[in-house]
Amino acid sequence: MHEAELKDKQYVWHPFTQMQDWVSRPQKVIAAASGIKLIDTEGNEFYDGVSSLWVNIHGHRKAEIDAAIIEQLGKVAHTTMLGLANIPAAELAEQLVAIAPTGLNKVFYSDDGSTAVEVALKMAFQYWQHKGKPNKQKFIALEHAYHGDTVGTVSVGGIDLFHRVFKPLLFTSVHIPAPSCYHCQLTLNTAACRRQCTDRLEQVLAGHHEEIAGLIIEPLVQAAAGMLMSPPGYLARVRELTRRYGVLLIVDEVATGFGRTGKMFACEHESVTPDMMTLSKGITGGYMPLAATMTTDEIYNAFMGDYTEKKTFYHGHSYTGNPLACAAALANLKIFREEKVIEGLIPKIAAAEAKLEQIAKLDHVGDIRQQGLIIGIELMQDKSRKVPYPWEQAAGASVCQQARKYGLIIRPIGDVVIFMPPLASTVEEIEEMLNIIERSIREIT
Ligand code: PLP
Repeated sequence: MHEAELKDKQYVWHPFTQMQDWVSRPQKVIAAASGIKLIDTEGNEFYDGVSSLWVNIHGHRKAEIDAAIIEQLGKVAHTTMLGLANIPAAELAEQLVAIAPTGLNKVFYSDDGSTAVEVALKMAFQYWQHKGKPNKQKFIALEHAYHGDTVGTVSVGGIDLFHRVFKPLLFTSVHIPAPSCYHCQLTLNTAACRRQCTDRLEQVLAGHHEEIAGLIIEPLVQAAAGMLMSPPGYLARVRELTRRYGVLLIVDEVATGFGRTGKMFACEHESVTPDMMTLSKGITGGYMPLAATMTTDEIYNAFMGDYTEKKTFYHGHSYTGNPLACAAALANLKIFREEKVIEGLIPKIAAAEAKLEQIAKLDHVGDIRQQGLIIGIELMQDKSRKVPYPWEQAAGASVCQQARKYGLIIRPIGDVVIFMPPLASTVEEIEEMLNIIERSIREIT
């Protein structure tokens, strides 16, 4: 066993991991990476099929990002944003505003997806105090939503497994049905669907908008729910309703942002401009922790006032706007522009779609969901009657373990096999990774 594995097992507590299982089994320790491959301590190479938890964009050891960080390191690694500004953070804010939906003109930095969402919730809450509507205190969220692991973000989350234990700590949110077509609660087929799932939202807004500060949503794809995808037009309707009833729309693009859906931001697919947008994961190309909460002048201006009015947004973290991370993010955006990454996605998305059509025919593949290079393959014990595997059987986990034997790292969410490769993957690499997934599903199910 490599020395690092020993130390890991003795000292490290891993996220979302039953440590009893972890310490009792052999584990891979990643020592290096190159392009879209991770290399373990024994020199084995693995495709990074989940982009190191949906963060990596241009591959690992991307020369331009490495160089940008090193260059910034030669100037200053970190300085506070409390009472000071820094060059990369200012430049990045300008560039984010330029690529974001029109009207999102201000950038509040933080460190990860959870903090970006936490900032949005607090900002929305305080905004209404300043606007003289202090009763607007609640948030609407979707069933099965995931917005992070801090107490505030868990409060607007909808995954019971993660929440049950913490219920007494959480504030109450109003949850509306998840717009998931395969699991449609209204049992509509596609032809009959007129986004009736938004009717419940309309009812809630009509009855309670005076108490609702904001609605938070993962646009198009509820990622951690197992890549549940909403029908076309859903997001636009949510925007229309929230605007009509005077409720702030917070679009959480932490997982969907930076090209994953085939456009820079998922909102663009439905020409939606939210009141707030949260970003993290791909913002630095997957190199460093950084997050941003973007908002409108309307919201920003509501916090203006004399110091004594106490309208300041009292929130900030030690590493907010870290110059190294912002330098990585600037290099990331430059690569998007220079390598025309978004345009280059078209054949890759099509190749994945073609291969997925074959995988859909497998006996135990119930549903395939794809939005750009975000892919979820839902396994079913009985496909025709939509009967899932028993939870203890962990069919999704077994498929992912099998895929590792063939050199692909992927992680399941329940029995949904998640495939979210770096955007830099070539058509051939995407096909090869999907071949491994197909083979692993065949062998396990
Ligand atoms: N929001 C969404 C939509 C996410 O998918 C995630 C993480 O997967 C988060 C927020 C939380 O981000 P982080 O893990 O960086 O705190």
